[in-house]
Amino acid sequence: MLLITCPVTRTDELVADRRIRSVANHPTHIAVAVDCPSCGGTHVFRTGRRWEDDRAARAATQTANPTPTAASARAARVREPA
Ligand SMILES: [Zn+2]
Repeated sequence: MLLITCPVTRTDELVADRRIRSVANHPTHIAVAVDCPSCGGTHVFRTGRRWEDDRAARAATQTANPTPTAASARAARVREPA
């Protein structure tokens, strides 16, 4: 079972393992595609220590310097594909 938060309805949903559509291992994270019981769509959830560390570092950078830099924009673009 997984506990997800649907980005469409913003509700927490317990999801059975059989609703997992794919699991992809990336250098910085694992992407899990799940059929959502709440809205019927498929959502990709990313998890992993390096992914969380990077997000925390970027959040800290955003707080210190809210203006996006070319480097952070490039990093955001690189991370878009699942
Ligand atoms: Zn959903």
